[in-house]
Amino acid sequence: MKKRLLKILIIVATVLSTSGCTDFVLKTVMKTVDPYFHGPGIDGTQFEKITENIYTFRWNWYRNVVIKTKAGLVIIDPMNPDMSAALKKELDHHFPGQNVHTLIYSHYHLDHTSGGATLAPEHIIAHKKNPEYWKDVKHENVLEPTRYISGDTVLNIGGVEIHALYLGLSHTDTLYAFHFPSERLVFTADLGFVKTVQPVGVPDKYAPGYLRAMNRVIAIDFDTFIPSHFGYGVKQDLIDWRDMMEEGRHLARKAIQETGTPGVRNDQMSQYFDAVYYPMREKYGDWHGFNDMFILNLVRDIVGESLGY
Ligand SMILES: [Zn+2]
Repeated sequence: MKKRLLKILIIVATVLSTSGCTDFVLKTVMKTVDPYFHGPGIDGTQFEKITENIYTFRWNWYRNVVIKTKAGLVIIDPMNPDMSAALKKELDHHFPGQNVHTLIYSHYHLDHTSGGATLAPEHIIAHKKNPEYWKDVKHENVLEPTRYISGDTVLNIGGVEIHALYLGLSHTDTLYAFHFPSERLVFTADLGFVKTVQPVGVPDKYAPGYLRAMNRVIAIDFDTFIPSHFGYGVKQDLIDWRDMMEEGRHLARKAIQETGTPGVRNDQMSQYFDAVYYPMREKYGDWHGFNDMFILNLVRDIVGESLGY
């Protein structure tokens, strides 16, 4: 039945493309990505208390953390002006009169570092290399850091210890993960999700370093795992996610070994598809976004395995 449906779709796509409707076909394929970013528990906002001192705020598919300390609030990643404005309302409601003592940037990416002005932080901490990247792009919404750090750094703010773990070249070379030993909690930015596949193969990823980074975080003793996108969970969710990423990568590597590098045969792409899609669907077909992101993730893995990044 599925094969028949696929045949019909191929015929329709062929007819449309040969009759000058290539743009329609391409747009239809493009639109299959949309559901990844929407759905129950994704659209809208939610502010929740997670542990004694840590809260999380979700704005659509983005999520950050707020830490309550004796010196004031600490926030990791403002993300964007709209999210910051929505978070500010929650802060005024839940912590009336409390200032934002420190804003921390997890890495330089603009979708994590914009909109901080609304939160009026006293201090802003970021990796020392962030400005090198910002100077090349329009970044007028990024509030300038007041303190730069490099390497692993222990921050003690208002009695709460925050271990900022430098992850090296992984997802940029400005990336930190954050471990809160007293809360047995880890927050990661763009490194691990909960039963959700990666978007676009994880943009700006150096895969060997990214695996090292995941393994480093997994080696920490913690319970609660909060990623910067979608839902939060437990440490096992990060382990499962690492395994999913590695499985996709392993299958892509095997497909290249068995059928050749891109371009050696005229049905190369469908060979890659067959070699990776079915075994991955068997294990991860029920994860959020599996089909929506499959092609983009597969292309990223094939290119990455071929080039070594
Ligand atoms: Zn990023």
